[in-house]
Amino acid sequence: MPKKKETIIVMSAHSDDFVIGAGGTIAEYIKQGKKVISIVFSYGEKSHPWLKEKVVQKFRIQETKDAAKALGCEVVLYDMKEGKFYEEYQKKNYEKEFLQLLKSQKPSKIFTHSNEDPHPDHKAVHKITLELFEKLKEKPELYIYSIWNPVSFRTQHPKLFVDITGSYKEKVKSLHAFPSQRYNAIYPLFILILFRAIRDGFKIKGSKFGESFYRIK
Ligand SMILES: [Zn+2]
Repeated sequence: MPKKKETIIVMSAHSDDFVIGAGGTIAEYIKQGKKVISIVFSYGEKSHPWLKEKVVQKFRIQETKDAAKALGCEVVLYDMKEGKFYEEYQKKNYEKEFLQLLKSQKPSKIFTHSNEDPHPDHKAVHKITLELFEKLKEKPELYIYSIWNPVSFRTQHPKLFVDITGSYKEKVKSLHAFPSQRYNAIYPLFILILFRAIRDGFKIKGSKFGESFYRIK
């Protein structure tokens, strides 16, 4: 029987977080023959308040799938209400479903949001991931990525640098799956992403672009 592919799971509050935080790493793992599943808690129905919710849903789902496709990963989408992730998670008993997925996939690594991230949805995803982690018998390595905040840990977590020189273009392509103006070359978030990629790349010998994570468990 062929050996099971190594599987990595990326927890993502909104549909573009997994791309911003770990897109290059995801594309890199895919090139190494690994399987990556991104779990998106909400595809962000608040992002286009002038459109009818149904219309927004349809194109948000499509752009999230396109973004995942550009990286080569699978994506599982949930429709949790922004600002209410933790309440919904408890109320609708998502835990059972999430645990089932994690137990069947047996990931070697899980990536999730940082607990220092000021965004309440990102914080909720961090909390949920930790709760799920505690319930797993076979413990994966647990890493955090950052979106807006520069991670400034008081405690010394080991850092993981991933060379994404060969997959930075997939990350950019994936960001462009989101058709809003947010990812054009002069948008601050795009500049921040580029700056971080160069900064982290500088830390890896012979690499131009990188991504970095902290291992918290
Ligand atoms: Zn987000």
